[in-house]
Amino acid sequence: MAENYDIAIVGGGPAGLTAAIYAARYKLNTVVITTQRGGMITESFKVGNFPSYDEITGTELMKRMEAHASGLGVKLVDGYVETISKTESGFLVKGPSLDIQSKEVILATGQKKRKLGVEREDELAGKGVSYCAICDAAFFRGEKVAVVGGGDSAVTSALLLSQFADKVYIVYRRDKFFRAEPTWVEQLKKNSKIEPVLNTTISKLVGENALEAIELTNGRTLEVTGLFVEVGEKPNSTLAKESGVALDEHDYIITDDEQRTNVPGLFAAGDVTNNKLKQVVVACAEGAIAATQAYKDISASK
Ligand code: NAP
Repeated sequence: MAENYDIAIVGGGPAGLTAAIYAARYKLNTVVITTQRGGMITESFKVGNFPSYDEITGTELMKRMEAHASGLGVKLVDGYVETISKTESGFLVKGPSLDIQSKEVILATGQKKRKLGVEREDELAGKGVSYCAICDAAFFRGEKVAVVGGGDSAVTSALLLSQFADKVYIVYRRDKFFRAEPTWVEQLKKNSKIEPVLNTTISKLVGENALEAIELTNGRTLEVTGLFVEVGEKPNSTLAKESGVALDEHDYIITDDEQRTNVPGLFAAGDVTNNKLKQVVVACAEGAIAATQAYKDISASK
């Protein structure tokens, strides 16, 4: 027997939780289903541009959003959604341990880390190769590590790693850090433990059972026991696609100004959409818009 809700939100990151906060304040019976509480921003060491906090860790910010949503009566479910199918009264949201009937659905499934695409990357994952500095930095106390990438994720990961490792190389294929926020880049440049290695990238991972070194395309070898891959993200949009939602050429969900997808009653918000700026504040705004439109639609259909 399915549990009934007004709105089912898939994804418990900034977009999903903000949508839930708005929906709950519209007095809609709301459930958030998530595989990662707080979403990928919990893997960010510092957030310095979310209004009202000078600096806050991703984890702390999301704990507060989750507490806010829970305090308003939102039900949070740890679970995985396998299918979303249309029913007469809305949607059936199903997963291995989920059976939910809801009038409307908001997809806020975010993004996942991209792999570097170098040979033996999968084999050495968890044996020196990592995709989450905040999860793994403390394992590299006193060691030498490298970060690859040049965006905010790479720069903030290098800053975090410098608190544990003795030496942090940041390997970036350009000649300067034009992509990352200047505030983080300034901190990077002032940090004596961090050495930028520019105009190159990684050609080979060295090490039998665990990472021992990385070879670069410029011929240099860096002896490191840790490599943190921060080369961007790709959208978690398979569920959307399988639910009939239209995606753009990079697999991001296409939405209109009210965060509607092409499937009536199915909305999308946050990093999984084809918005122009992947930032927490944008994800929150899209979550608010989606919940508001969903509320208007539900009210109009009564
Ligand atoms: P991103 O901005 O897309 O940066 C990805 C980086 O990886 C780029 O520098 C790119 O190089 C490099 N790259 C891509 N493929 C590569 C390859 N095959 N080999 C080597 N390098 C490669 O991704 P992100 O840093 O994860 O940030 C995503 C979004 O989240 C951004 O909006 C960012 O501001 C936000 N964010 C914010 C924070 C924060 O403020 N605390 C933290 C994390 C993320 P090119 O520069 O040459 O393209």
